[in-house]
Amino acid sequence: MIGYGESVETLLPTVLKVGEINLKCMALLDKANTETYGIPEPTDVTLTIEKGGPFIVVTGHDLRDLQLLLEQTEGKGINIYTHGEMLPAHAYPFLKKFSHLKGNFGTAWQNQQKEFDHLPAPILYTTNCLMPPKSSYADRVFTTEMVAFPGAVHIDEKKDFTPVIEKALELGGYKEDQILTGINGGTKVTTGFGHAAILSHAGTVVEAVKSGAIRHFFLVAGCDGAKPGRNYYTEFVKQTPSDSIVLTLACGKFRFNDLELGEIGGLPR
Ligand code: SF4
Repeated sequence: MIGYGESVETLLPTVLKVGEINLKCMALLDKANTETYGIPEPTDVTLTIEKGGPFIVVTGHDLRDLQLLLEQTEGKGINIYTHGEMLPAHAYPFLKKFSHLKGNFGTAWQNQQKEFDHLPAPILYTTNCLMPPKSSYADRVFTTEMVAFPGAVHIDEKKDFTPVIEKALELGGYKEDQILTGINGGTKVTTGFGHAAILSHAGTVVEAVKSGAIRHFFLVAGCDGAKPGRNYYTEFVKQTPSDSIVLTLACGKFRFNDLELGEIGGLPR
C-alpha cells in the first residue's frame, strides 16, 4: 500500500513495475491485432462521406466489432466509416480489403455531440471516450460490449448487428457528397505508422539523421479533451521546423493530423 508522502525510493520500484506491465500489455495487444488483422500499413484516409447510400459510423477501439459489422454489411450497399480511435482500422490489411470501409467521419471524442447531431446514419459505440447522446440523434445510437446509454439499443454478445443495419437502411445517408474536414480544414488524414512500418524504413531514417536532413523528433503524446487550451497541440505542431519529424499517440493527434506537413526525403513528416 502506497500513501501520500512516500519517498522516491519507495515509489520508484512501483512506478517501474507499472511501466513494465504497461509495455507487456501493449505487446500483447499488438500481437493480438497483428496476428488477426495483419501488419498495419501507412494509409491515407478520406474524411469525405459519399452520397447516395446508407452508412454506419463506428466509434471506439474494438477492431473485432468493426470486423463483424463489415462482414454483416458486405454486399448490402451500406458503407462503413470509422470515428475517433477506430481510425487505425484503415491500416490493417484484413480490414482494408473490405471495399465498403470508406473513410473516417469527424474528429475526436469530445466533438461527438456536434458531429453526430442530425446524422442520417446510425452510430455504433464500442469502448471509447464517449459523450452522452443528445436527443437529436439518440434514436440512432447503438452500443455494444461494456458501453451502454439509457434508451440506446444494446447489441449483445451474439453480435447480431441487424438493428444497426435496419436503421442505416431507414435513414438512407446523404443525398450529396459531404466533404468534411479535420479541425484544421484538411480533407484527409493518415494512419498506420506502427513500429513495423517505422522499422522497415530505419535505414532511410538513420541516413537522414546523419546527413542532417532530420534534426529533431517530437512525440506529441496525449489524449484529447474539450477544453480550449488543448489547441496547444495544434500550435506546437504548426511551429515544428521543417527538418523535424512529428510522432503521435492517442486522440491528441486529431488536433493536427489533417495538417499538410510535407516530407523529408520521401518520409512524411
Ligand atoms: S486515446 Fe484517450 S481521449 Fe482517445 S479515446 Fe482513448 S482514452 Fe479517450
